[in-house]
Amino acid sequence: MATQQHNFPEIESTLERGLSDMSAYYLENHLRPNPGKTQICSFHLKNREAKRELDVTWDGIKLENYQHPVYLGVTLDRTLSYKAHIQKTRAKVSTRNSLLRQLTNSKWVGSPKYTAYIGTSLVLLHRRICLPSMEQIVPCTAVITKAERTKQANDNRHSLHEHSAAQKRLSSRSSFLDTTEVLGTTQTDARITEWQNQWNSLGNQTTQWMERGITPDKCLTTVHDQPWPVWKTLNRLRVGEGRCKVSMKKWKITTSGACVCGESQTMEHIMRCSQAPQCTGDDLAEPNAAALTCANHWKDVI
Ligand SMILES: [Zn+2]
Repeated sequence: MATQQHNFPEIESTLERGLSDMSAYYLENHLRPNPGKTQICSFHLKNREAKRELDVTWDGIKLENYQHPVYLGVTLDRTLSYKAHIQKTRAKVSTRNSLLRQLTNSKWVGSPKYTAYIGTSLVLLHRRICLPSMEQIVPCTAVITKAERTKQANDNRHSLHEHSAAQKRLSSRSSFLDTTEVLGTTQTDARITEWQNQWNSLGNQTTQWMERGITPDKCLTTVHDQPWPVWKTLNRLRVGEGRCKVSMKKWKITTSGACVCGESQTMEHIMRCSQAPQCTGDDLAEPNAAALTCANHWKDVI
């Protein structure tokens, strides 16, 4: 039951009238109302009345006020800023990221392909829900937002089709209809363009990779059939983060940061250590036989 009025007492009396009508209906149809499980909430921009609770009774029982009701999976808040929903989604994504982190650091993971599936199902599912709010953080989400805007513009089945944005009530609030452009290409193309733009902004190495025909794409690299420890080591070498001696010393797990060759064992050193197979950043990008030999050598170390 919903009502819109200019002040709280009017809302309270309207709701109470509506509820008493419902009581009569319940009685006629041999149903039993359950005021103990009925919740109410109010949406408004009056900050002075932020903590104001509605005083509505049904069959002599005061109804419970609820600050953040969930409707169709979306957590609502008083000003409809979706702040509560974003915080909840963020917490969920963070939990799933922790699960994924635990999984990828273990040795018993089946294959990179299934880990990618798990990542998509655990994390992307939630990332998709908060569309426009995360646009600036994740380029992939920017594409989803644009795709949604395209549907809104072209598909008459879309719930906001032919809808124009309401006048702004708060300066911090801008409608997704005003801020998002319609997508000119397919979602996949637009996503890859976004990734390429990010790559280009990274600097020299990525430009070199692009020139060699190594482009960002939404698929696993050619060696994803390798055992998980090799795949993991390969990726650790690529991003330059792993359990090398220098890091282990920093984390206070070992006392020495020296490699078997005597030099300081950083992630960069691992790729050019004289006592082990060597590889370069380009080898890792493909990845070719040199990169695989190097990853195989270090798989139980880093
Ligand atoms: Zn060394």
